[in-house]
Parts: sequence; structure tokens; C-alpha cells
Amino acid sequence: MENQKIDSVPLLDLKAQLSDLRDEIVQAVTEVVDSTQYIMGPKVLSLEKAIADYSGVTHAIGVSSGTDALLLSLMALDVQPGDCVITTDFSFFATAGVIARLNARPVFVDIDPVTFNLDPEQLEKVLNTMSSEEKKRVKAIIVVHLYGQCADMSSIVSIAERYQIPVIEDAAQAIGAEYMMGAEKKRTGNLGTMGCFSFFPSKNLGGIGDAGMVVTNDAQLADQLRLKRVHGAKSEYCHEVIGGNFRIDPIQAAVLEVKLPHLDSWHHGRQQNAELYTALFEQKGLSQIIPPQPVYQDQGLSNYHIYNQYMIRAPRRDELQKFLTQNQVAARVYYPIAFHRLECFQSLGYAADAFPESEKASNEVLALPIYPELTDAMQEYVVEKIAEFYQ
Ligand SMILES: *Cc1c(COP(=O)(O)O)cnc(C)c1O
Repeated sequence: MENQKIDSVPLLDLKAQLSDLRDEIVQAVTEVVDSTQYIMGPKVLSLEKAIADYSGVTHAIGVSSGTDALLLSLMALDVQPGDCVITTDFSFFATAGVIARLNARPVFVDIDPVTFNLDPEQLEKVLNTMSSEEKKRVKAIIVVHLYGQCADMSSIVSIAERYQIPVIEDAAQAIGAEYMMGAEKKRTGNLGTMGCFSFFPSKNLGGIGDAGMVVTNDAQLADQLRLKRVHGAKSEYCHEVIGGNFRIDPIQAAVLEVKLPHLDSWHHGRQQNAELYTALFEQKGLSQIIPPQPVYQDQGLSNYHIYNQYMIRAPRRDELQKFLTQNQVAARVYYPIAFHRLECFQSLGYAADAFPESEKASNEVLALPIYPELTDAMQEYVVEKIAEFYQ
């Protein structure tokens, strides 16, 4: 290891994961090809069952992407034009985009600077400043478990229950992440009313294309999700409600079923890499770097954080990113612009300084390569380059 020469560190190396599973994956895809069952079918049903079991929930509905999982969840709750949906100010665009696509109004909430997740105190504040008329229009809260660590769900769910608002978990980056709900250890998707997963290739569980899933313990919502996944027709051509085509592709289902049994060991690999980075920063005296804070690590959970991203805060972030790129280290900013600053949300009328923590995060965060197959030597190289930058 010591003398291994590193010439580049990619952000993600899908080839490394593929090489172990390639034969099984090709076999599973071949089965779908040969079956000629190209819509839904047994592969979709067995993946849905496997994800439901993994997440500890009773219903799982395979869909076309993580974005469609979120959109379909809002449709299942019958979100109408003019309704409000509360969400974080700091996430991937889809979290807020789906709200606006239904002509509902996104209501943003600032984040907790330690976890980057929606801050329950700010949520309470936002609800408190609403008129009772406005409160009635709030049809959902979308909580994001950003980077792979759960939001403060005990507090958020208890606030939501008080106001009787359903909670949708955007768990696109956090499938399998665990959380202590009271005395009970639970996984994402089982913490709110519905949970949404993405199988985009760069997520911890990634397909060979787009796919997603909605999970829930609510049988009535599961019916709505299944109905609206296929144009809202209970029997052929009898459309009771308006849905869409949000079906998952059976080829993706087949691939994901091959990968799922390995997911926890991949999570573990990412955790070990995270620990090494954090230790190396300390060793090198890089106290200006703030590493991610795994706030649930001491609670006896194995997936206390699944590190879809290892997100540091760094001074002179943009210059550091440029320096790393020049040294063949891929580092990315997720996300450089807070929602309330996006051009497409200017009509919502938020002041530029309305969400200071979200704003600050957008200027400071930088994701370092963290995929499970990353070697110690590569990590040492990354940290050496960071040390060189701050010299
Ligand atoms: C990836 C992601 C999505 C969207 O998932 P897609 O499968 O790409 O549509 C939604 N929310 C968050 C937080 C994500 O990271």
C-alpha cells in the first residue's frame, strides 16, 4: 500500500462494484429478456417484497425513479394546486421540484448546521407563523435524510402529528440508514408516512438506469400509490383518478435484486472509509476541515450513517475543489445553490438571506470520494493533497 502510486481518484468507480457481480447481473437481465415480460412481472414483485423486508415495512411500490417516487407520494396524498408542502431549503432539486410540478407551493425550512437536515425548531417556527387558513393547506412535509444520515425524525414526526400532517421521507440517499424511534431501531421508509428511494446508479443501491421505490405501512396509501402508478385505472380503461406511468422497469428490478444482499456490506465499507478520512484529517492537524458528524453513532445502530456522500465543510471551498481537480481528485459540491436562491423559485418571494444555515452550507460543503472500493492509499493521497492546499 505505502508505495502504491496514485494518479487519480474518481468520485465513484462503478466498474469496481460491477466486476464482482457482473455474471449474476447479466444472468438476471438475460432472464428478463428471455421471459418477454417487459412490463411489471415477477422480478418487480420479488424486488418489492425484498425492499419491504429490508426496510421493515408492509408495502413497497416500484417506480420509475426517485423523483417519480416523490411525485407519486404527493399524488397519493391528493396534493392539489394551491396546497402547501413543507420541505428543507437544502437538497437535490427533485425534493422541491415535485411540489411545484403539482402547482403546489413549496414552503422552505432552514437546516441544522451539524447534520444538514431539516431543523425541527425551524419547522415549528414556520408552522407557528402560518395563519390557520394557511395551515389547513399544508398537505405534507418532505423530510430529506441528506447524504445518508437520518433527520431528527422523533422531533419532526411529533410536530407533524400535532398538526396532523403526513411526513414523506426523501430517502433517496439513505436506503437502510437506521434511527432510534423511541426504543425501537428502524430503517428509513419506516419512520414517516411514506418513504421514497432512488436507485440512480450513484446511490448506495444503484440500478443500470433509472428506478425508484415508495414504501409505506399504510394500506390505503399503498392502494393509491399502485393505482396512480398506472394512470389511475382500477380496471382497464376505467380511470377513477388521474395518475401517470410511473412503473419500474423489470430489468432494473432484476439488477437491484442481485445487488440488495450486498448493500449492508457496502454501507459498512463507506463507514470505514469515512472513519479513515476523519482520522487522517486529525493526524495531519487539518482542523480547518469539518468532517461529517455521525450523530447517531453511539446508539448501537449499524447503519447510523450510510455515507452516500462524505461531506466536509472547507474554508476557500471553491479554490480547494479546483486544486483537487488539478491533482486528479474528483470532489463535488452538493449543492451549490440553496432552493430559495434558485431562479425557478424566485416567485415564492423569499428574501435572499431567509435561510442562513442552508446558505452557509451551500458555500462550504464539498463531497470527497467515499465509494466502498476506495483504497486506503487513495484516501491518503486525497488528504495529502488537501494538506498541501492549506500549507
Ligand atoms: C437522487 C435524489 C433524488 C432523485 O432521484 P432520481 O432517481 O435521480 O430521480 C431525490 N432526492 C434526493 C435527495 C436525491 O439525492
